[in-house]
Amino acid sequence: MRNDTLKHKGLRNQLAQQLEERGIQNEKVLDAVRAIPRHLFLDKTLEAHAYEDRAFPIGAEQTISHPYTVAFQTELLEVQSGMKILEIGTGSGYQSAVLSYMGAEVYTVERQLELFRKAEIFFRTFQWKPKHIGYADGCEGLSAHAPFDRIVVTAGAQDIPNPLLSQLSIGGILVIPVGVTQQKMTVIERKGLKEFHKTTYGDFQFVPLLNSTEGLS
Ligand code: SAH
Repeated sequence: MRNDTLKHKGLRNQLAQQLEERGIQNEKVLDAVRAIPRHLFLDKTLEAHAYEDRAFPIGAEQTISHPYTVAFQTELLEVQSGMKILEIGTGSGYQSAVLSYMGAEVYTVERQLELFRKAEIFFRTFQWKPKHIGYADGCEGLSAHAPFDRIVVTAGAQDIPNPLLSQLSIGGILVIPVGVTQQKMTVIERKGLKEFHKTTYGDFQFVPLLNSTEGLS
């Protein structure tokens, strides 16, 4: 495991302050940004830039999301300690680590074999780890462990996959970016068995959520 130094901690404090200035208010989210060493989720050559509000390549044509995007999605999730959360798109594992740090029981799935393997190895020695990492198509959800209090999709979806709605607990929240070239951050609250309430937020740009036949390694 690479080092986490006082300098890194200082850069994380600055990043958290920037996110707060941009409107992130939830202290638990900001605490997680201050705590999780984002540089460890990036290639060593990018380490000097790890605490800039930027997305970076992580292999398999995928990216780690901007810290602002991670913080924004996490804030919308209204995470409470002990909640069961499904993440679609493990990628680097950073979002999973943030949610795990906040006390959630995290189930995460990744569609790219290379990234799944890398995350699995990384989390063997990392303190804040998800409870389950799977190599699977997240459009199907994760029925063996459903229902979930929260579901977060970290890739851009053309439509909202039905299994994600049916695997949400009543009272649960799904946060999913929806759109083709740009995505509207979309929050779905499950109010009853067949009652869902939708709210949309600003525009974001995500790598695409692959459907069931695309991108199989
Ligand atoms: N949460 C990640 C963001 C990674 S980018 C992080 O913190 O780094 C989105 C990820 O979604 C990519 O790794 C991509 O491979 C994955 N992905 C895309 N379609 C998917 C699908 N259908 N099921 C699971 N993962 C998917």
